[in-house]
This record gives sequence, C-alpha cells and structure tokens, in this order.
Amino acid sequence: MSETAGLQRIRVEDLLQRDSWDVDPRPHIRLNAEKCAGCPTKPCTRMCPAGCYVEAGGSIVFSYEGCLECGTCRVVCPMEAIEWDYPVSGRGIQYRTA
Ligand code: SF4
Ligand code: SF4
Repeated sequence: MSETAGLQRIRVEDLLQRDSWDVDPRPHIRLNAEKCAGCPTKPCTRMCPAGCYVEAGGSIVFSYEGCLECGTCRVVCPMEAIEWDYPVSGRGIQYRTA
C-alpha cells in the first residue's frame, strides 16, 4: 500500500485477500470440453482475473472455487462453451472492502 496526494493506493491482490469464499459444492460454471478443445485462442486463460482457467497439454483445467463472479469468461468465450450461473444464495465470494 502507498499514499499519493491523500489517496491510499491499494493493490488488487491486497483487496482480494480481504475477501472470503463459501464455496457452493455445486459448480456454478460448467464448460463444454468438446468446444474448449476446438477453441483456437482460449481467451479465458488470459482474461479470468482469478486464474480459474489454465491450459495444460491443449486442454483446459478449470476450477470454479476461487471465482470472483465477474462474468468475464462468459463474455470473452468465442465458442459459447460456458454455462454460467451464480452460486446458490449466500455461497460463493463475499467481498470485503475494509
Ligand atoms: S474461451 Fe471458451 S471455448 Fe475457449 S477454452 Fe475458454 S471456455 Fe473453452
Ligand atoms: S466469472 Fe470471472 S472470476 Fe469467475 S471464472 Fe469467469 S472470469 Fe474467472
């Protein structure tokens, strides 16, 4: 953290460390593995701020547990391969600003 002209500068990583997750045992995001295999650019691996998508040996390894529920992957996926829903009420990420 640093201070500039009276404003406190906070890194995104520090903000995220304040948050907590109550992981929904039912994955709220599901992928179509066949479509992912044929996806030429795999933007999810670069755009997900939580790093939930990792390419390994040409396949996508996905973990929903650390999802920030931002919806970016759903928007950038060129194959409509993502079935996206929110976790059940009260589950998932709980943002804390202080
Ligand atoms: S962008 Fe969509 S289709 Fe491509 S790898 Fe990611 S989830 Fe799969
Ligand atoms: S909703 Fe956001 S944080 Fe969650 S998997 Fe998609 S891009 Fe990542």
